[in-house]
Amino acid sequence: MIKVVKFGGSSLASAEQFAKVGKIIHADKDRRYVVPSAPGKRNAKDSKVTDMLYACYELVEAEEDFRVPLMKIKDRYDTIINGLNLKLSLEEEFKKITENLKSGAGVDYAASRGEYLNGIVMACYLGYTFVDAAEVIFFDENGNFDADKTNRALSARLAKEEHAVVPGFYGSMPDGSIKTFSRGGSDITGSIVSRAVHAACYENWTDVSGFLIADPRIIKNPKPIKTITYRELRELSYMGASVLHEDAVFPVRKAGIPINIRNTNAPEDEGTWIVESTCQQSKYTITGIAGKKGFVSVNIDKDMMNAEVGFGRKVLTAFEENEISFEHIPSGIDTMTVFVHQPEFEGKEQAVISAIHRLAEPDSIDLEGDLALIAVVGRGMRATRGTAGRIFSALAHANINVKMIDQGSSELNIIIGVSNADFENAIRAIYDIFVETQL
Ligand code: ASP
Repeated sequence: MIKVVKFGGSSLASAEQFAKVGKIIHADKDRRYVVPSAPGKRNAKDSKVTDMLYACYELVEAEEDFRVPLMKIKDRYDTIINGLNLKLSLEEEFKKITENLKSGAGVDYAASRGEYLNGIVMACYLGYTFVDAAEVIFFDENGNFDADKTNRALSARLAKEEHAVVPGFYGSMPDGSIKTFSRGGSDITGSIVSRAVHAACYENWTDVSGFLIADPRIIKNPKPIKTITYRELRELSYMGASVLHEDAVFPVRKAGIPINIRNTNAPEDEGTWIVESTCQQSKYTITGIAGKKGFVSVNIDKDMMNAEVGFGRKVLTAFEENEISFEHIPSGIDTMTVFVHQPEFEGKEQAVISAIHRLAEPDSIDLEGDLALIAVVGRGMRATRGTAGRIFSALAHANINVKMIDQGSSELNIIIGVSNADFENAIRAIYDIFVETQL
């Protein structure tokens, strides 16, 4: 059995953290392929190496002296190397980086060096082979990730290695230059490597013990989520819950490989399993709650709207013309409501209103701002009666006015609109009714 293990920046921020990571890897012989991030923050005031590299690159661009900040980065690595008693010098690597930056290597090259160097340190510490991501992870001419080419090269390369370290976050373009994924992209590399080696599981080690049912800033000590499906995760992350990079799901999902989110600082915790499908019901009917503030509802009224073919299209054209994407469109018999992001909409509201009048000739349009949307997600809802009823009675008890309800046809989620001011209380009320009272 093969497990791919990816470690996030906080898991690799210092020699002490590296030692924890080493212990975790050696505790299970199946953990054969390792994907490291760059060193993250050691404390709240510290900087991530990736951010330091971006700052360094700004100096390169401004044609200012970048040697001092680059040496600060070298210090971070040397502190780790010395703390681990490794016989490793990054002197030559830093010379090469300096030269390359001077001769026009781009911002992605600069940012990627955090993972590249950490991969070298990690490989030395573990005694594993270092495989540069630039040689096995590819982007096409348009800068899109080339999944097929990568999978072929990476499978072939790793088949030759019993153990290897592949740095996260970057790959190479057809001309050989370095390109990174978006921020947090080491998660994606871990997923790509898992697919290439047909891993039994992709362990993603971070600094929390998996996903929580609700945001801990709103709910005190929320219960963890043991198992979540990819689709549930998508619904929750869309609503703002974040632990894993969104694009990290696709490669493993395609191959049916589960992801296990684990905590480097509490390796005994089971963490969260992200799976394609499961016959296990979650303990609480709902799997998770997430939400976002800052929406506007655009309520459009027109008598006999239900009989007018093309009305919805005309309304949405008004948004499209103004380059505004919509979030939800609950509709009634003679009303249609379009939910949009407030910051995106505010400057264009009058243009949108007049466009709707011109295109769809409604009777009236009414705007309401400062709204929040809350998604209650759970595969268990399909098999349970009365979920919506329970949500609404909990909200009524908490004196919260529900402005909108939208149940996806998959019965995987119910989306509720409340005013921004009621957001936190609404989440508490829903959490309590499902989790604290265990209904
Ligand atoms: N080091 C990169 C970042 O900070 C990528 C990662 O950590 O996943 O975004």
